[in-house]
Amino acid sequence: MNAQTLFVDGRWEAAADGETREIRCPADGSLVGTVSEAGSADTIRAIEAARRSFDDRRWASVSAGERGKLLARLAAGIRERREEFARAESLDTGKRIVESRIDMDDIANCFDYFAELASKDAGRLVDAGSESVVSRIQYEPVGVCGLITPWNYPLLQAAWKIGPALAAGCSFVLKPAELTPHTAILTMRLLDELGLPAGVANLVTGAGATAGPPLSGHPDVDLVSFTGGLVTGRMIAASAAATVKKVALELGGKNPNVVFADADFEAAVDNALNAAFVHSGQVCSAGARLVVEESIAERFVDALVERAGQITLGGPFDDAAETGPLISSAHREKVHAYVQAGVAEGARVRCGGDYATGTSGTSDLDAGFYYRMTVLDQCTRGMSVVTDEAFGPVVTVETFTDEDDAVAIANDTVYGLAGAVWTQDAGKSQRIANRLRHGTIWINDFHPYLPQAEWGGFGQSGVGRELGPTGLDEYREAKHVYQNIAPEVTGWFVDRRHE
Ligand code: NAD
Repeated sequence: MNAQTLFVDGRWEAAADGETREIRCPADGSLVGTVSEAGSADTIRAIEAARRSFDDRRWASVSAGERGKLLARLAAGIRERREEFARAESLDTGKRIVESRIDMDDIANCFDYFAELASKDAGRLVDAGSESVVSRIQYEPVGVCGLITPWNYPLLQAAWKIGPALAAGCSFVLKPAELTPHTAILTMRLLDELGLPAGVANLVTGAGATAGPPLSGHPDVDLVSFTGGLVTGRMIAASAAATVKKVALELGGKNPNVVFADADFEAAVDNALNAAFVHSGQVCSAGARLVVEESIAERFVDALVERAGQITLGGPFDDAAETGPLISSAHREKVHAYVQAGVAEGARVRCGGDYATGTSGTSDLDAGFYYRMTVLDQCTRGMSVVTDEAFGPVVTVETFTDEDDAVAIANDTVYGLAGAVWTQDAGKSQRIANRLRHGTIWINDFHPYLPQAEWGGFGQSGVGRELGPTGLDEYREAKHVYQNIAPEVTGWFVDRRHE
């Protein structure tokens, strides 16, 4: 029997043409499962189901308070099944089980946040300047949403969209990355068990180029919310323009980690490792550009290189492992080509720079797509390794001499997702934070984010914001309702009927 992993109008279905895909763990190539491979006809079927559910007001007419309660139960369900969800995420992505558990906690917290926000901001009265007018702004769901997500944090990125979509009263079609569908499938099962009306949440598992395009092109989709790469994001925005859809884009980053000489040295070195190498650098906000003050650069990079070389690679259930494989063979080749291009341009490999092989702990590195933690120094502005996103365990080193220099280097990117500044001078940290053109700035930290704080990019890192109150607004339309409670003849046009 064909796998039935498409969830359309409350039913589990196979792809119309019977296509399937084997999902394999990138840590060792083992078979994780076989899923339906949706084509565009399947996605269109799911969009039509979402449209019907929205037009019938199956979810939009449910009170905001009740919508919030369902989201809170979704959060509780994920906490209860944390281990099942975390294992599924680790098998699809190859990331360590401890990291997947943290992701599941973050996901539950995200749903809880939007559960609470759902009924908080119902609208507002507007002073129309007249006693005979009642004017109010009310918020309504934007409609049918196409949600497209990447493979690095599969369910977390989906939760940032599902949470506000359901809180606002929207219907949606989710298309997770083709390599990592399993936690999306588990989430749909949970929503079904919780009694979400049929057609409100739909899932298509399939490849971007085939299953994806209707989500940005179909006239029945009102909003497309995409998290992924810059090139795909541009295509989606262009396709969405034909029907003037609302577009939300969370794209890549080339995030500077700026370290001043007066920073807490050990904390800054340790966090520079986390910034660059957590999840083997497959993080949109990875601190892939170390920008360090010249006077401490040599000592700082020596310490970084020493520690980077000691990081233990391994599979999701290997207790000794500190980070895991890259997502696919093709992605590893891309990362390696990027490093080689950097070397050709004059960067120096201080550690790593190649595939990781052999055995480590209980892990057979030859069976997966491992890459060694890589530090490239002698990098300068304009080199491709400094401008392009590697999305792998590669950090480039640039040096600066003063505040103006640091800011100029850190802002020299088409992206603008996140950045950090390390200094013990409080005034300096604020001056730099104010001047950095990035959507999130960490001072003396790297990576933390909060569901209640907006996340998103300046420049070509995206359009719009996820999380926080603005993250809910993406899924709502503001409607102005203006009522004249004492209508009278205006006299603007002369009434000539009786002349
Ligand atoms: P990707 O752009 O290749 O794919 C993302 C999603 O888009 C996948 O579901 C894919 O199947 C789908 N897709 C591909 N082509 C499509 C098309 N023509 N129409 C519709 N959908 C299509 O990106 P990826 O390789 O999965 O993810 C890595 C990228 O995501 C990196 O650039 C990373 O920086 C970015 N990212 C950004 C954030 C953020 O919050 N800004 C978070 C995570 C990842």
